[in-house]
Amino acid sequence: MYDIAVIGAGIVGACTVYELSRLDLAVCLIEKENDAAAGATKANSALVHAGFDPEEGTLMARLNVEGCSMFEELSKEAGFPFKRNGALVLAFSDDDKKTIGMLYDRGIANGVKGLRVIDSQELKRLEPNVGSQAAGALLAPSAGIVGPWEMCMALLGKAADRGVSLRFRNKVTGIRKTSDFFEIEINGGESRVQAKRIVNAAGIHADEIMEMAGEKEFTILPRKGQYYVLDKSQGKLVSHTLFQCPSDKGKGVMVTPTVHGNLLVGPDSGMAEDKEDRATSREGLLIVKESALRSVGSIDFRDTIRNYAGLRAYSDRKDFIIEEAGSVKGLVNLAGIKSPGLTAAPAIAREAVRLLEATGMHMAPRQMETDPEVRVKFGEMSDEEKQSVIKGNPAYGRVICRCEGITEGEVIESLGGPLGAVSLDGVKRRVRPGSGRCQGGFCGPKVLEIISRELKIEPWEVQLDLDGSHVLEGEQDDVL
Ligand SMILES: Cc1cc2nc3c(=O)[nH]c(=O)nc-3n(C[C@H](O)[C@H](O)[C@H](O)COP(=O)(O)OP(=O)(O)OC[C@H]3O[C@@H](n4cnc5c(N)ncnc54)[C@H](O)[C@@H]3O)c2cc1C
Repeated sequence: MYDIAVIGAGIVGACTVYELSRLDLAVCLIEKENDAAAGATKANSALVHAGFDPEEGTLMARLNVEGCSMFEELSKEAGFPFKRNGALVLAFSDDDKKTIGMLYDRGIANGVKGLRVIDSQELKRLEPNVGSQAAGALLAPSAGIVGPWEMCMALLGKAADRGVSLRFRNKVTGIRKTSDFFEIEINGGESRVQAKRIVNAAGIHADEIMEMAGEKEFTILPRKGQYYVLDKSQGKLVSHTLFQCPSDKGKGVMVTPTVHGNLLVGPDSGMAEDKEDRATSREGLLIVKESALRSVGSIDFRDTIRNYAGLRAYSDRKDFIIEEAGSVKGLVNLAGIKSPGLTAAPAIAREAVRLLEATGMHMAPRQMETDPEVRVKFGEMSDEEKQSVIKGNPAYGRVICRCEGITEGEVIESLGGPLGAVSLDGVKRRVRPGSGRCQGGFCGPKVLEIISRELKIEPWEVQLDLDGSHVLEGEQDDVL
């Protein structure tokens, strides 16, 4: 019997189990897919928002600002890439100037530090490539950029080291409440998990989890956003994250450097057909492109290396839903976590712990052995350090991904432990082969071979990403 079962291995579930792993509790994380970060956490803008956008007095505003302030410490503690690069909201018209004035006031009310309205000259000094029509901007120095997958993996890796049980390929299909615990049905009855409390962090499926346990207390609708990822040749066009003024449809198209030196452009905003609809469309991408060229006219979209779409979890309430369910005691909902959910996730996790404590769960600190130090990544080592690692293990001397300089040793390492990758994209989410200009064209077959060898599975059993996404059909003789 677990004390707490957290459903969903996105960033909200990951931050929650990380926070719970500091306490003397038996905790498990239940995820339907074969890996973590398979939902919205995989496909978003990767921004740490400053907090001037959410309406004053909402949970979104408070947890955005609180979460944003936690990133330096958390990124060092767990070991994931984060940079406070600052954001600019561009004004192209008098109406936009009014909007950035309103955002400034809202930001101040929300507690955002360092906000300033700047004129076109200062804007041009900060961002020489900004569109010539930009007449000023709101500067938010506390905004940042982060690697969302790496953040999710780093926190889960630490939580697993501290004893949290990670259960992948475990789809919750039913929940029964007895007088003092929950019985959670997995994969249609294949197995059952018992837990005293449940945390529902199931993203766009959180309404279904709620309904399995009690009443349908809210509805989640998927809202799609589409992106361009551009090669590193475009990554230095801007140093801040450039937003346009927000509308009722979202924060508007942004242009931003990523923590790995690429340029990211997007998103648009429109309802998805269903909760599985992650297709990109020509129309949506054209809107993004035209809008982005207003912010930075010199973006060369011929250097696009990938397009993708993510699904925001829009609920029928305006705010995040962070509360104990009304119809079932002991189930805490972390639902409707749309943007700025990635930013707010560390603060949402603390809120979850407070709510669990309020249900009567005893929260004593765990006797922690010192956490193993965050391992310096091979790519970040000095030449001398690399030489010494290669001497110990020659696999670190064989470069597999030329675009990102990833070695065989790093790929092998990503396949081990309770959070080991099981697919090509799983390896990419951990150590990045396939993230560069060739998008896996050169390194993909080599990574596939290593996965097959190390996990002792046939090459045609290796998957691109989620279960069912096989890369090969079979042996050549079978095909001919
Ligand atoms: C286009 C877009 C742009 C965004 N940009 C930003 C940004 O720049 N900054 C920011 O702060 N926020 C941003 N967000 C919001 C942020 O990405 C989300 O708030 C955050 O990722 C939500 O995390 P989550 O863990 O709640 O959900 P998810 O990451 O979706 O995780 C939910 C998990 O639950 C699992 N699950 C679902 N049902 C079941 C079941 N029955 N059994 C077991 N497991 C189940 C899913 O497989 C999934 O892994 C953006 C979102 C989108 C879509």
